[in-house]
Amino acid sequence: MAGTLGLWKQILDEIKVQVDPQTYSTWFDKTNEFSLVGNTLTVKAPTKFFADWLDQHYKSFIEEIAYNLTAENISVDFIGSASEAPSNYSFSKSSFVGSSKDNGLNPRYTFERFVVGNNNHFAFSAAQAVADKSGKIYNPLFIYGGVGLGKTHLMQAVGNSIVNNKINKRVLYTSTEDFTNEMISAIQTNTTINFRKKFRTYDILMIDDIQFLAGKEGSQEEFFHTFNTLYNAKKQIILTSDRPPKEIKRLQDRLISRFEWGLLADIKRPNYETRVAILRQKCVEENITLKPEVLEFIAENFDDNIRQLEGSLIKILAFSSYKKVKPHQIEITDVKEILEDMMGNRKRPVTLDLIQEEVAKYFEIGKNQIKEPTRKKEIAFPRQIAMYLSAKLIPHISLLEIANHYNKKDHTTIIHAKKTISQKIDKDNNLKSKINEITENILQ
Ligand code: ADP
Ligand code: MG
Repeated sequence: MAGTLGLWKQILDEIKVQVDPQTYSTWFDKTNEFSLVGNTLTVKAPTKFFADWLDQHYKSFIEEIAYNLTAENISVDFIGSASEAPSNYSFSKSSFVGSSKDNGLNPRYTFERFVVGNNNHFAFSAAQAVADKSGKIYNPLFIYGGVGLGKTHLMQAVGNSIVNNKINKRVLYTSTEDFTNEMISAIQTNTTINFRKKFRTYDILMIDDIQFLAGKEGSQEEFFHTFNTLYNAKKQIILTSDRPPKEIKRLQDRLISRFEWGLLADIKRPNYETRVAILRQKCVEENITLKPEVLEFIAENFDDNIRQLEGSLIKILAFSSYKKVKPHQIEITDVKEILEDMMGNRKRPVTLDLIQEEVAKYFEIGKNQIKEPTRKKEIAFPRQIAMYLSAKLIPHISLLEIANHYNKKDHTTIIHAKKTISQKIDKDNNLKSKINEITENILQ
């Protein structure tokens, strides 16, 4: 491609403008362009942990920036340190690049890597049963639970198990967002027939975060027909959601009832022992050793979800590589310092939900009203503040996660909200003190 020499450098310049400096220095400072082959940009990160994190949290954000810069669909892959890259890189790429095969599966998300505890035992068994006898027992399998508790991992483990066992079945994993977008573009290009055909050819269809169908009438209609076709042909459907079907607002009753036909399995927050076990497992996977008391310290302090546990480990590893201290030499006192910004002295973790709740309370509107798709100032303005504060107060959150939470298509709405609110704060001391007050309520 012409004119894309140093593409990663150009992308970094853009990222620098869009994320806060701390995020930039933690995640992007030590990244380098590894190769640009065709439309695939491979970026090298200091460790595999970094590579995975970037893949999970920034991939689509970065691909969008790349598109804006080049007007081409660039796919971005992340790899760990140079030592992990085989010399015949271009031939064995798929063995170490994290994601994006045609079936949408991330090969890391396997049953073997999934730590089972009381919180997820039931869902785990159900998923295994479905992998063994797809379409025959629980259909659909509906997995629900809070953010970062392993829904996506478990769902994909079913797909990976089928693929790895070379069972001759067509598997597709997709997000509800991609499903919806693909449908919309099919409508625009008059190719809905192909769209339907495509989705109906799968033996196992996995759709993640189905709660995002809420309020999308056209997509619900289309999905209803896809569901029926697959179901009648005894094809397996697996869905995840952040809540049980009945609690998804603005979802057609006929879909709710179909989602309840099979098995509903929830995943709860892991207890202390499970959290320690998960941390140990991640250390084994990364081939690092941390002092047991360090792992216990992390497990005691982060009980909200597993993403936090992973985030803590990544920060500790970042510290270890910058300071050139071996992971097993890191002490609890170091960890307290490293994770200070993630812990604070808070009793409640700062989450998207908490911010939504506190902002709504402050403006005396309903918690869910703030998400209503209206431009009315009394709703839209608090919503922008909530988006702004989410980006500011939640460590390592991606703009896309915030966008998803507020049912927005992509991160641009969030960038806009951040900009608008910061500009207003600069000019308006009254607003500034209001926002400080809300921040205090959130962090209390
Ligand atoms: P969700 O889809 O519920 O938001 P994910 O499946 O994305 O959560 O999980 C967040 C991260 O935590 C992933 O990296 C995943 O591998 C990890 N994880 C979640 N549950 C487990 C588990 N039981 N054992 C090991 N890793 C887990
Ligand atoms: Mg998920």
